[in-house]
Amino acid sequence: MISRFFPTHYLNSIYEIKVEDLKRQGIRGIIFDIDNTLVPYDEAEPNENIIHFFEKIREAGLKITLVSNNTEDRVVKFNEKLKVFALHKSQKPLTKSFKKALQLMGCKKEEAIIVGDQIFTDVYGGNKAGIQTILVVPVSDKDEWITKIKRGLEKKVIKYYEKKQRSHNR
Ligand SMILES: [Mg+2]
Repeated sequence: MISRFFPTHYLNSIYEIKVEDLKRQGIRGIIFDIDNTLVPYDEAEPNENIIHFFEKIREAGLKITLVSNNTEDRVVKFNEKLKVFALHKSQKPLTKSFKKALQLMGCKKEEAIIVGDQIFTDVYGGNKAGIQTILVVPVSDKDEWITKIKRGLEKKVIKYYEKKQRSHNR
């Protein structure tokens, strides 16, 4: 079924996430992908907007874990200023890192949500783990070659997803 690739929500960017709404829905932990979800893959550090947004999330009492398929160097450097839980070489869409993130944050799968820009890693992995997902539009159209290959197929899935959303709202 194609719906295994459908996110729970689809947003233009992380800044459209309403932290208070998530909290009201019982969410206690947010799992963020890094590359093209928070910054382009060739930006080593988070910008001020991200630092503030993460502060806001933590002030609301929610935990954060970065779950990235990228290297230890990349993830550790990116997390220097953020100081949240962080997992590198996660091998998404395998679910083991998502499960590890739940452990770190001390939440059940129903109490977490995954935010990412890729259907076949973040969303598919989240669905397999039974965790809600927010798909965001990539922050940059620069992708690593392996990702580039998947974007065409992603667009097709998003088309199906949006068609389904429209028929639901009718
Ligand atoms: Mg990504």
